[in-house]
Amino acid sequence: MQASIEEIHSTALSEIETAQDAETLKALATRYLGRKGRLTQFLRDIAKLPPQERPAAGRQANTVKRELEKRFAEALAQAENHAAAHGEDAIDVSLPGRPARVGSLHPVTQVNQQICGIFSKLGFDIAEGPEVETDYYNFEALNFPPHHPARDMQDTFFVSDGIVLRTHTSPLQVRVMEKTAPPVKTIAPGKVYRCDSDLTHTPMFHQVEGLLVDEGISFGDLKGTLTAFIHRFFDERIRLRFRPSFFPFTEPSAEVDILCVICRGSGCRVCSHTGWLEILGAGMVHPAVFENVGYDTSRYTGFAFGVGVERLAMLKHGIDDIRRFFESDMRFLSQF
Ligand SMILES: [Zn+2]
Repeated sequence: MQASIEEIHSTALSEIETAQDAETLKALATRYLGRKGRLTQFLRDIAKLPPQERPAAGRQANTVKRELEKRFAEALAQAENHAAAHGEDAIDVSLPGRPARVGSLHPVTQVNQQICGIFSKLGFDIAEGPEVETDYYNFEALNFPPHHPARDMQDTFFVSDGIVLRTHTSPLQVRVMEKTAPPVKTIAPGKVYRCDSDLTHTPMFHQVEGLLVDEGISFGDLKGTLTAFIHRFFDERIRLRFRPSFFPFTEPSAEVDILCVICRGSGCRVCSHTGWLEILGAGMVHPAVFENVGYDTSRYTGFAFGVGVERLAMLKHGIDDIRRFFESDMRFLSQF
């Protein structure tokens, strides 16, 4: 009996020693310590011994059992570590690291920041205001009287009676002038809403409003400011032209075209073969608007303009469908 437990002990140890992997070790552990294992069987057989031999045999067998359990656990841990370091799932520390995926700003945000950056350098402050706006600020204070046909130019989303989603950033002109005495030199970037959707229109888009009021401001200042902006945004060779237009809150009003950035004036699909692209609306602030905010119209003049951010982003990056900006397609967005 004594020889047998020692034999089990030494063969188990030498078999643990030569086992190559975790699978073999697990099978060995079952062979010795499992329900029908050699050591388990030995422990059962102790009951068949003469009573005086049982205590010593039991102590010895339990000591061997504890030691083998410990050795199996150690060997198994070692084998698993080895497999992790050298097997199929091993981490090869000599490989170059996987680069972390870096996000980027949305192209509309980028262009918005560029526009604001250029006007900041020209000395303009930045103002912000509510997207849910009263009829007064969105229309009336800007010289759109109730039932005036010019209100039809803007397909308005009505929130409730007298409350609208702002159709342009121009309400900021009024809000800024109410709070500030001239001179005023402000731009107001933000989201605007119109009930419209096609290749070049989305129900929500971004505008940057500009307003400059001081003594002696003329249309020449407007042209100079917008020309400086366009030259910095696109490049120095871009030519501008001002066409007469109509907005209730400016007089005279102009629409500003730039020489097509795609074909440089020779005519292409983007510019409908005219060589020119309409890019923003502008004009001299209407005296009625100044009167609404209590400015002295005999002393102050000013100009205002509004530019579509998506429009500029499309031209700058050659994008032909405005809806791409809002589809959250990573293949599109990750190009910027
Ligand atoms: Zn063109």
